[in-house]
Amino acid sequence: MREGLLQERLPGGKSRCLTCARRCVLAPGEKGFCKTRENRDGKIFTLVYGLISAVSANPMEKKPFYHLFPGDLALTCGTWSCNFTCPWCQNWEISKRLPLLDRSFGFIPPAEFVRMAKEEGCQGVSLSFNEPTLLLEWAVELFPLAKRAGLHTNIVTNGYMTEEALEVLVSAGLDGANIDWKGGPEAVREFCSADFHVVLRNSRLLQRHGVHVEITTLIIPGVNDDEETLCFLAEKIVEELGTLTPWHITRYFPAYRFRAPPTPIATLERAKEIGEAAGIRFVYIGNVPGHPGQNTYCPACRALLIEREGLSLRKSYTTGNVCPRCGEGLPIRFHVAK
Ligand code: SF4
Repeated sequence: MREGLLQERLPGGKSRCLTCARRCVLAPGEKGFCKTRENRDGKIFTLVYGLISAVSANPMEKKPFYHLFPGDLALTCGTWSCNFTCPWCQNWEISKRLPLLDRSFGFIPPAEFVRMAKEEGCQGVSLSFNEPTLLLEWAVELFPLAKRAGLHTNIVTNGYMTEEALEVLVSAGLDGANIDWKGGPEAVREFCSADFHVVLRNSRLLQRHGVHVEITTLIIPGVNDDEETLCFLAEKIVEELGTLTPWHITRYFPAYRFRAPPTPIATLERAKEIGEAAGIRFVYIGNVPGHPGQNTYCPACRALLIEREGLSLRKSYTTGNVCPRCGEGLPIRFHVAK
């Protein structure tokens, strides 16, 4: 049990949680929307500090990060529950469960997680599987320790933290964020009970703070696969984050409570065309093994630069920031700055 890092005490023993943009006001004994925080005698405590649901050493490509430390391994973990309500969650066995110690991997102190990452031969640490914002108190202790040990840090997030939480994560040493843009404002409101504009603001803020940002959209039939939504999302990436921000268009499969059929490959290819027509220079197709849309090509001369297979890097034809064939600059970070 840890006291919540960001909270505002209110009259009557209430307290407002300032971790995510829901800003739940909790009376004594109440839990927040995400059920990971509880007001005990006027103070909010997190119930998931270091309570880890799963751990695995994953390639950066699996997050997916394609332009941040390609080929590196990051020791990845998450806790339980979520602050969104997406009925198609592809990780629902973790995100839709409440924090229960008997189901969990167990308690892992931040220093132990760093030691595990080094022992596994990882170059980084990653918070994923469920919403990392809910692990805020643990993350802000983990990241400085990881950096001191020479490891890079990233989160895979729905981008719904408060500005305060975002700044705390940046100050702790966050290197990269893959942010899930789940659809247009209406779909995000209807299915996730959330405000897309908060996600947009946080994507922009993280990038302005120097955090490497990549965007992922799980393309779901009937939710976000229409031309209007895809054009909207592509244009927002260009306007708010710039044409060099990678956009991952990934294939959905039925999961949890959602029964729409898997996304047709043609829809993903159309989404890629829309992204490129809007000016995004790196649009990737994910969750389709063997599709050429998962490789990186030089945006100027179309030379193959990084070949991927499944969720891993197969071969890189460059290790620098220029195309070896035509000299075009590449916005890919290969190595941790010394
Ligand atoms: S993290 Fe978000 S959803 Fe959870 S209690 Fe705090 S404000 Fe509410």
